[in-house]
Amino acid sequence: MFQPVAREPPADEVEPDLGGEARRFRVEGMDCAACARSAEKAVAALPGVERAEVSFGTASLRLVGAVDDAAVIAAVDRAGFTARRAGAAPTGAGRPFWRRDVRSISTSASVVLLFVAVASDLAAAPDRAARALYVLSMVVGGWPIARAAVSALRHRSLDMNVLMALAAVGAVGIGAYAEGAWVLVLFAVGTTLETFALDRGRRSMEALMELAPARARVLVDGEERTVDVESVAVGAHLVVRPGERVALDGEVVGGESSVDQAAITGESIPVDKRPGDAVFAGTLNAHGALTVQATRVAGQSTLSKVADLVERAQASRAPSERFIDAFARIYTPVVFVAAVALTAVPVLLGGELETWLYRSLALLIVACPCSLVISVPVAIVSAVGGAARRGILVKGGQALEDLAAVRAVAVDKTGTLTAGTPALGAIVVLDPALDEAAALTLVASLEGPSEHPLAVAIAAAARTRGLRPAEAEAFLASPGQGVEATVAGRRLWAGSPRLVVARTGSSPLELGELEAGGRTVVALGEGDRTLALFGLEDTVRPQAAAAVQALRRAGVEQITMLTGDAEPVARTVAGRTGVTDWRAGLLPEAKLRAVEELQDRHGPVAMVGDGVNDAPALAAARVGVAMGAAGSDVALQSADVALMGDRLDRLPTAVSLARRTSGVMRFNVIASLIVKGICVVLAPFGLISLVVAVAADMGMSLLVTLNALRLLRVRED
Ligand code: ADP
Ligand code: MG
Repeated sequence: MFQPVAREPPADEVEPDLGGEARRFRVEGMDCAACARSAEKAVAALPGVERAEVSFGTASLRLVGAVDDAAVIAAVDRAGFTARRAGAAPTGAGRPFWRRDVRSISTSASVVLLFVAVASDLAAAPDRAARALYVLSMVVGGWPIARAAVSALRHRSLDMNVLMALAAVGAVGIGAYAEGAWVLVLFAVGTTLETFALDRGRRSMEALMELAPARARVLVDGEERTVDVESVAVGAHLVVRPGERVALDGEVVGGESSVDQAAITGESIPVDKRPGDAVFAGTLNAHGALTVQATRVAGQSTLSKVADLVERAQASRAPSERFIDAFARIYTPVVFVAAVALTAVPVLLGGELETWLYRSLALLIVACPCSLVISVPVAIVSAVGGAARRGILVKGGQALEDLAAVRAVAVDKTGTLTAGTPALGAIVVLDPALDEAAALTLVASLEGPSEHPLAVAIAAAARTRGLRPAEAEAFLASPGQGVEATVAGRRLWAGSPRLVVARTGSSPLELGELEAGGRTVVALGEGDRTLALFGLEDTVRPQAAAAVQALRRAGVEQITMLTGDAEPVARTVAGRTGVTDWRAGLLPEAKLRAVEELQDRHGPVAMVGDGVNDAPALAAARVGVAMGAAGSDVALQSADVALMGDRLDRLPTAVSLARRTSGVMRFNVIASLIVKGICVVLAPFGLISLVVAVAADMGMSLLVTLNALRLLRVRED
């Protein structure tokens, strides 16, 4: 009945799926989702490019293919934007600000020119002078727009730069100089402000990455040397002084201190570290000096993996976004054609060209789906970025939307509701040939290779009593039941009360007594005899009860505890945490079925577990949530939501963030649609001016962006 199980592979074998050898670039100067598509098309057209994805939300480009960086950067430049390799210094660094911020300077200048033009208009200056000033402000503010428009047209994309440029040129064509200038200037101001606001969300990850120092103090032959982190190999010893940040992931080999791990877990209460403990790159050493042996090279650190996962999550498309993109792809051309028809048809029927052209131009501006297309991605960028700063890694728009829809949560007991660090509380020896020490030595030997929390507790108990466990041979683990191995020539087993019944056909009286006290029992046996019983006590996490309550407040109606442990233990833990529904004695397979059953009854379920032995159930749940993911690459990679630290109370925070996010998305989409709808209806009747059309558009884009930015601030409850 025992089957060998695959243990968690060593950290280094599990690499984030980068989708081949994707290279990352930052792309600056994109103002809309359609711009991202223009840039994407420009890069995809390069010879050698296999795949190029530009995300407007994160302002980044991921690229697969044999093409050199310079060609990519040039292509993006031709499309009207600037690109640089992610991690490289910003193009502007070292350059004077007027070269770096050309766009904002030209925009500001155009605003000034526009005001001068308006003033001279009001001051009844000669018409020619005012017109010249309007045109000048259009040229100054509009050249980046024109440049981008030309590039977009070349790639046959009808983005908002094209629409705005056409509207402005058309306005000048019918002599509406002032309006043409207002259109371009308002558009330029709007997009500059929007980029400015959006960058706050986009920068959250760059800021995180910068927490890891670029240089490390390495011990070479007992001497300290400061070197680039990139050059530090696994196994090197680093010295981390008080107040310094840890440069690489590693294990403490000397010294004691406490470390602020907020960079990883979002939790700034320092965690004590002593030899044997893991530390992460980017975390802040408080007061003691530590010697740390590097376990990973710089590019593989947990921090850089997190940053990479966050960026990919921010760039991922939410289901509702796909719908909007599809809508926009139809909407823009349809309105564009309508705008053309709005002039062509009446004029053919004898209408006045200028009147109808004016209305067409207004409709042209309305054809831009700007605020609608950005309404979802900006929300996701902010929500994912804000969550990451609290140690909550949400894997993307899909996970966010699923989490928002969750009505039921399944919680694993060991390591989730409880600390997962049980302590041995009682030993009952049943075999007269053994005493307590001998029984404990045997079971500790048997459990030696196991990583189960119960096995770890047994090993710890043996160690504190100064016992020396023997080597276990032919070790087999059966998840949710126990282990089997050969120790000193004896074939022994250890495991759950259920295993006792399976092996011996009965259950000793003492077992029931131990369990009645709320202890988890591990039985040691040989063949069909039970040799000894071990009662282990796990402590309920201090925040577990509060987290359960907060989940209920966040609108989760059904909370079910799933455990492989026995009924009495389950009942005790349920009582202490306020969980009213539990299933005990479940094998991993049964946990999976329980999740499916909950899903049938309550809709999407989030399952919280440690991500290792609960893997099947986590995968079956709509949203798999892994706790303590900082320590496990498998959990980090496979979960839909990874709680980096060991704090269960992040889960309600994540749920309410997801709910708020979906509220923000809904508001953004509906408000954008309503405003667009009104404009589309009014434009053909000449009821809105060009200025109002642009102002409505830019106003909505700014509004949805600012609304989304609220999500960067994650409330704790
Ligand atoms: P949980 O659902 O609480 O996380 P598991 O599914 O990991 O628990 O295990 C269920 C039960 O199986 C444990 O309570 C224990 O009785 C038994 N068990 C599993 N692995 C071991 C092991 N390595 N040693 C002893 N008992 C084990
Ligand atoms: Mg477990």
